[in-house]
Amino acid sequence: MTQRPVIVVGGGMTGLAAAWELQSQGVPYVLLEAGDNLGGKVQTLHTEDGFLVERAADAFILGKPYALELAREVGLEPELIHPRPETKRLYFLKGGRLLDFPRELKMFVPLDDDAFRESGVLSPEGTERFLAEVDVPPKAPTDEDESLASFMSRRFGEEALNFIVPMAAGIYVANPHELSMQAAFPQFLKMEQDHGSLIRGSRATPRAQGPIFGSFRDGMNALPQAVAARLTGDIRLKTRVAQVRPDGVRLEGGTELRGRAVLVTVPAWHAAPMLAAHFPDAAARVGELNANGSVAVTLAYRADQIPFDMNTHGLQVDASEGIAMTAVTVHSSKLAGRAPEGAVLLRVFFKNTDPQEAVRLAPKEVARLFGAQGEPLHHFVADWRGQNPAYRVGHLKRVAGIQAALPEQVRVAGASFTGVGIPDCVNAGRVAARAVVGQLG
Ligand SMILES: Cc1cc2nc3c(=O)[nH]c(=O)nc-3n(C[C@H](O)[C@H](O)[C@H](O)COP(=O)(O)OP(=O)(O)OC[C@H]3O[C@@H](n4cnc5c(N)ncnc54)[C@H](O)[C@@H]3O)c2cc1C
Repeated sequence: MTQRPVIVVGGGMTGLAAAWELQSQGVPYVLLEAGDNLGGKVQTLHTEDGFLVERAADAFILGKPYALELAREVGLEPELIHPRPETKRLYFLKGGRLLDFPRELKMFVPLDDDAFRESGVLSPEGTERFLAEVDVPPKAPTDEDESLASFMSRRFGEEALNFIVPMAAGIYVANPHELSMQAAFPQFLKMEQDHGSLIRGSRATPRAQGPIFGSFRDGMNALPQAVAARLTGDIRLKTRVAQVRPDGVRLEGGTELRGRAVLVTVPAWHAAPMLAAHFPDAAARVGELNANGSVAVTLAYRADQIPFDMNTHGLQVDASEGIAMTAVTVHSSKLAGRAPEGAVLLRVFFKNTDPQEAVRLAPKEVARLFGAQGEPLHHFVADWRGQNPAYRVGHLKRVAGIQAALPEQVRVAGASFTGVGIPDCVNAGRVAARAVVGQLG
């Protein structure tokens, strides 16, 4: 008798990595994806006139090796590219002015006091309070979670949030007063305990050598495409799962599929209704996981429309600036091959903003900050409202509670649960696949 397959629900990076792991272990699987292509949020568009537009991720961190390992396994390593060091200059928008980003930072921690003072990203008092973090005693060891705002203002002072929050927002679109330190930045909790101070800890640990981020020549979607091309199992597109059952799934339309295990890799807001009928306790817990929203507008210009020197990776916006825009990436300077010769491609990020309003505001901001003249050649909007997982204080306990409320043959994995970055999603998919294989033998 043939073995019943493991059912993977969702064909984003998490689901694809889970399927790849099952295949690598010789375990039959079925991957069910509601949409008509694979990759989930990792979406790359190519325009006829040579622009490469990323709707979500444009790069991934190399410090967590899982995405690079997967790329290597599917033969994509030769396509790996890195942000261009020669255009690494960054700005900080404060009080309507573009300031140079402080030199000698490790994430947001200054390695050189004077370089931080010179930058002017905080007021003189705010700067001195920031640098006085070395003298702030560590919190007594505790299992209690804490918000980003609480941790950072305790250590660096209240004003520091204006500078730190935009950087954290590059990864987690979150309310800093809600974002869980344990889930989002456990390394800083550990550093506080190990070194007594983040400044001291950052200065004591060697800087990573070589590039910090990677991407692919043909865009981020090359990774899910390469994995998908090597999957030889049963992959079904346009197949929406309506219900997860102890022995399989029911599809929209009523068809039932039986499996020896089910890996649910869709975001929490899709997972909760799927689990409700058979696993109401787990579904209620999944339903407690929130989401935040963001909107990204990509604009293309001829280089001669912009008088500003665009040899920069972009800017971040002071959290107290009081505008909807949060950051700008000069995508064509950051990564090679994103725009044709003589053109500039920008990504302008907004908080939870009406997409039409974001499309109206983005070129105005580019005109105000960089002097852009005339209309952009193209604009694209990616509406991610309600689609960014929000890891609120207590997130890790909530996630442990969800898995404990499910039988061992049903697992949840993915960006809503254990890390939003692509390396975390890849790892989550593979770990979940290994766990069911280990449990079921
Ligand atoms: C604007 C933005 C920028 C980002 N930038 C970066 C970055 O630079 N670097 C980085 O590492 N990460 C970045 N991320 C995060 C990263 O892209 C995502 O966290 C990751 O791709 C999520 O993968 P996933 O597989 O967990 O979920 P998803 O990509 O959401 O995939 C879930 C899949 O499940 C499918 N599905 C849903 N419901 C059903 C159903 N009922 N039945 C079957 N299938 C279903 C969906 O169609 C989808 O394909 C960014 C995210 C956004 C939104």
